[in-house]
Amino acid sequence: MEKLYCSFCRRSNDSVVMMISGHSAHICDKCIEQAILLVDKDKKSSSSQATSFKSIPPKEIKAHLDQYVIGQDATKKILSVAVYNHYKRLTQPVEDSSVLIEKSNIVLVGETGTGKTYLARTLARDILQVPFCIVDATVLTEAGYVGEDVESILTRLLQAADYDVAAAEKGIVYVDEIDKIARKGDNPSITRDVSGEGVQQALLKLLEGTIVNVPPQGGRKHPDQKMIQMNTENILFICGGAFGGIEEIIGKRLNTKQLGFMTSSSKEPRVGKSNLLQYIAAPDLKAYGFIPELLGRLPIVSHLDPLDSVTLKRILTEPKNALTKQYEKLFEMDGVKLKFAEETIDYIVQKASELKLGARGLRAICEIIIMDSMFEIPSQKKMKRLVFDKAYAVEKLSKSKLDMLKVA
Ligand code: ADP
Repeated sequence: MEKLYCSFCRRSNDSVVMMISGHSAHICDKCIEQAILLVDKDKKSSSSQATSFKSIPPKEIKAHLDQYVIGQDATKKILSVAVYNHYKRLTQPVEDSSVLIEKSNIVLVGETGTGKTYLARTLARDILQVPFCIVDATVLTEAGYVGEDVESILTRLLQAADYDVAAAEKGIVYVDEIDKIARKGDNPSITRDVSGEGVQQALLKLLEGTIVNVPPQGGRKHPDQKMIQMNTENILFICGGAFGGIEEIIGKRLNTKQLGFMTSSSKEPRVGKSNLLQYIAAPDLKAYGFIPELLGRLPIVSHLDPLDSVTLKRILTEPKNALTKQYEKLFEMDGVKLKFAEETIDYIVQKASELKLGARGLRAICEIIIMDSMFEIPSQKKMKRLVFDKAYAVEKLSKSKLDMLKVA
């Protein structure tokens, strides 16, 4: 057999499994494998750098959210536009420096259980074509304190992107409970700043756009750990929080302002107490304890409406994956046709309103009512139909510890 040598590694044909010959060169199976790996790697990185996203118009994004999230129209619109513009910003050619499109990070303010996280999750699940993660601001502390460094946010995004740095650098982060890092008290210098201005300063750097050394496995940085460099310039931040007590700040601002302009003959009514959140603006967040620099990087502030009984009822029964539909499906899989009586639905809604846990209360109540049946019925083969009437629901709830969940 003629002796051939691989043109790349110089191995001879008797030391490899296969040698492929071209016009005047040869390549062995080992070098082919290497080459395939290199090509794959290159394809992966160039595809994540490719700036072509399937651009979904804001109206379509909102229509999709409408299938799952009831109400909250103002925030849905704002989020749809923000995501659409985020893609536009990412697809702006590098050579087009005529107008620099700035990032529009968002703050969502709304009572607990009104759908802040749910909106972000629904966006992420079906709409977003960039990596997405949800992080909790309560665990963030200033470097040096017990807790997590702000960089841990980026570790999460990197993990969501399967460690594809270029993709993660274009991702979207939802920071939950952002209100928990507000500065407490009026005098920052005497406040022990475990979670407060220091964390805000650190977060500000990420929001502004900077190069950060990220520990790939999370945890505190330590000298031996290999860091991954990430640029946060194109990462969109959506921050959400309940901001308990902020209505007072809004009310004060509005009424004092209006008083100043109002004459006794003015017909304009003073702003009432109901749903003051709809008037929220950056100055209120400043008064709540956020540093102005951080607010400057969160230019869009939107509110979520509190959920009244009508909305709670719609949430319970209407969305594509409404709770009642989920339970019906579960029972259907056991051959049982389940029905919630109308009066039971109204009773669940009334109890959820009392709990003040937003839509989250609906699930807690349903679980209490339905648990015994879910336990028993799979063993009762003859059962074909099950109706939950109000009396049954009342009995189950009276024996439960539901009231312990109540928010004062
Ligand atoms: P938070 O505002 O505290 O982040 P979540 O978004 O986590 O509240 O809401 C808790 C749950 O309540 C969600 O998982 C969702 O099932 C339900 N929910 C809340 N608001 C809505 C809404 N407007 N439409 C439909 N479901 C909702």
